[in-house]
Amino acid sequence: MKRKISIIGSTGSIGTQALEAIEKLRDKFEIIALAGGHNKELLAKQAEKFKPRYTCLGEEGLEKICSDKENDIILVACSGKIGLKPTLTAIRNGIDIALANKETLVMAGDIVMAEAEKYGVNIIPVDSEHCAIHQCIKNISQVDKLIITASGGPFLKKSVEDMKCATVEQALAHPRWNMGKKITVDSATLMNKGLEIIEAHHLFGFDYDDIDVVIHPQSIVHSAIEYKDGSVIAQIGLPSMHIPIQYAITYPERFEGIKSKSFSFADIARLDFEKPDYEKFPTLKLAYEMGKLGGTATVCLNAANEEAVFAFLDGKIKLYDIYKITKKMCDEHKVSKNPTIDEIFAVDKEVREKTQELIKTERKL
Ligand code: MG
Repeated sequence: MKRKISIIGSTGSIGTQALEAIEKLRDKFEIIALAGGHNKELLAKQAEKFKPRYTCLGEEGLEKICSDKENDIILVACSGKIGLKPTLTAIRNGIDIALANKETLVMAGDIVMAEAEKYGVNIIPVDSEHCAIHQCIKNISQVDKLIITASGGPFLKKSVEDMKCATVEQALAHPRWNMGKKITVDSATLMNKGLEIIEAHHLFGFDYDDIDVVIHPQSIVHSAIEYKDGSVIAQIGLPSMHIPIQYAITYPERFEGIKSKSFSFADIARLDFEKPDYEKFPTLKLAYEMGKLGGTATVCLNAANEEAVFAFLDGKIKLYDIYKITKKMCDEHKVSKNPTIDEIFAVDKEVREKTQELIKTERKL
């Protein structure tokens, strides 16, 4: 029996890699639908090659795909808040989710996980760290702590002063992972790790005090868990997104698929670890604080950061201003503890508008 799959965000970084994996596993999958962002040409090429039953471009059509019960699993690989509503629709239709979209959990983790439980739906993380933890956990009640690794990004060995005058090109030169622009900037400021601890809190139900971050520049240990008895289980492998993507869409089975070479400890030779520098990367601390506040605090964090990152990519602000602006918006935000989906979107909109205003006035000064 072929697994019936749809991909939301098929033309993006995760989506195209998922299709590369599926190409190697043609006899295992049948594609129901492919949804792209705005790359019409690429979507047309994908449709020709993979023959989905239907395709869609942009946000329209996502609800239709996600309410199509023919799907066994939907890979949510779009970026930004557009992932949230279709994910909830899929969950309510009893369709399993391979989740690559961080915003879904950062914005509405409480609601999404409660609905998944209610409808008996599996949410398999694609994010490499969470995928690693998912692979390590056998009995979650025996686990004490999650240990999330971070490569440290391009500024790990640079000074705060270097970071302050960093160019867009420097921020986009990630040493280990080849990803979209927004997430690459988030990796440079460590906000990506901040969003990941929030993601981990929701996915695995751990308190923030039981989620540690450790810097590991080689990106070989993708994350780890510590059991009650002190035993630590880590998932390791070469830094390739193909592995977690393929794991998520084929779970609980495993296939060779796209595997290109075997792992060699001797070739890796050494693994380094260090504590994150919260002075240099204050966004990580801010993410812990907002995560602990819960409710709309993480909606505000995500929205303000995203607008600030776009402004940085547009050359409007400096790299360090991303933190300053996000922090200011978070300080001003009045947290609502148990928001509905509509309230979440209203807060998202309001924070984005305020952030854009702040960026405009800051530039005039
Ligand atoms: Mg990650």
